[in-house]
Amino acid sequence: MSEFKLKHWDDVKTFKDEGEQVTKFVFTKEDAVVETVLYRYPTYMERTVICHSVMSGCPMGCRFCGTGDFFVRNLTKDEMLEQVDYALWYACQELQLDAVNWTSTPNDIEKLQIMSMSMGEPMLNKNVDKVYRTLHWLYPNAALLMSTSAPDVDYEWFFTLAEDVPTVGMQFSVHESTDEARNKLIPFEKKLTLTQMAAKGTEFAVRTNRKPFFNYCAGEHNSSPFDAMNLEVDFNPKIWEATVSVICEQDSTGGAKSNQHQKDLAAKFSEHLVKLGYNVRVFDPAGQDTIGGGCGQLWFVQDWMKQNPEKARPSCGAGKEKVGAPVIPIIPIGGIKKGELQVFAAGTGGKSLWDSVVATSDKITKVRSEQDVASYAMTELGELMEEIIINSGRSYKKPGKDGVVGEAVDVIICMVDLIRRHNPKLTETDIVEIARRKCSKWEHNDARENAERRQPGQGWTDYGT
Ligand code: SF4
Repeated sequence: MSEFKLKHWDDVKTFKDEGEQVTKFVFTKEDAVVETVLYRYPTYMERTVICHSVMSGCPMGCRFCGTGDFFVRNLTKDEMLEQVDYALWYACQELQLDAVNWTSTPNDIEKLQIMSMSMGEPMLNKNVDKVYRTLHWLYPNAALLMSTSAPDVDYEWFFTLAEDVPTVGMQFSVHESTDEARNKLIPFEKKLTLTQMAAKGTEFAVRTNRKPFFNYCAGEHNSSPFDAMNLEVDFNPKIWEATVSVICEQDSTGGAKSNQHQKDLAAKFSEHLVKLGYNVRVFDPAGQDTIGGGCGQLWFVQDWMKQNPEKARPSCGAGKEKVGAPVIPIIPIGGIKKGELQVFAAGTGGKSLWDSVVATSDKITKVRSEQDVASYAMTELGELMEEIIINSGRSYKKPGKDGVVGEAVDVIICMVDLIRRHNPKLTETDIVEIARRKCSKWEHNDARENAERRQPGQGWTDYGT
């Protein structure tokens, strides 16, 4: 076994996933702490992914990120390169290669991806330029991905780099479908709007002939078909590829976990994007539930930040409420009172179903005609019908993740949106009154049918139309 002598860091600690698909390293020195993550899918020689840090802490303050509360400093080129070197050396040790081979082996890996996707914002650290040029020289086949939350800074150095190095990719962390929501999620003030991000990505595409990606963390509050349509306004599916990330939630102990509900949300939102013509990949980093795959969420890093207040200065996000934490919807049984649309869901702040849907409908800026909404409702209705057929055992298919209830709720959302488009002045009280009249007629028709059934011949129920 060869030895790795650290030159630019004092110490490295290793945290291994129980399933051993992912290993996380924490590098420390007197004035900085960073994480690096190494993934194998399923073997190192088939696909190796390394996410390295570009900063210790981060000034962007993203409210879903363990790194976002503190900023220490930018990393030097050597501090970044040594993270990648160490991860590759570690992979080779696991492959039981000798010291002579480990520096050449990375070029034999079928798919090697090195990403600036751990701690820090790469567009705020121009040393990334030298790092990518060096990595390309060492590992010409490696895909190099720069993932940015889009601060409003000079992008020219990066576009020039991407023109010079053909393996450099660009990804924007979009994560919300409106600027208003994104401002809450990413409190850093000097950042690009969705429209400005789209323009930068288009410039990348024009100058490199490669497609940019946008990354979207699908949560409970931002994964409706309308969110997808709103993204489409700025991010043309002919230019953009989409990555939908499974949210890695901080639990009460500060650890990280993802769950099936989060995975389902990401899968469902991907379906909405696919319908709009996007190529979509779902990113569910291995190891989230065991060692904390989300950046900066390892207890060791969190502890270092707390122990070094003179080095780890609070960022613009410090103290602000965490945003995007998943909420499992709870619909209390028996919560629907006759004559009232009082279906409550966690996360709506106790608002009625009508208020919740109308609030979202008003937030969505994508221009849509009544015909557009009706056409979308027909699609949802088709999906509902399919679920009902599957549920009755008359189809070879398996039930979808949403099931009959989820699909029915999609139809309800479309219908409320349609009413809102048609007449924005109507209130919930107006709708309840209309529903009350229709229910009364429905009951009346049912009573009449029952009476007729006692006579020869059969009637059929209509819903007071
Ligand atoms: S998500 Fe990225 S840009 Fe945002 S605070 Fe975390 S490290 Fe910084």
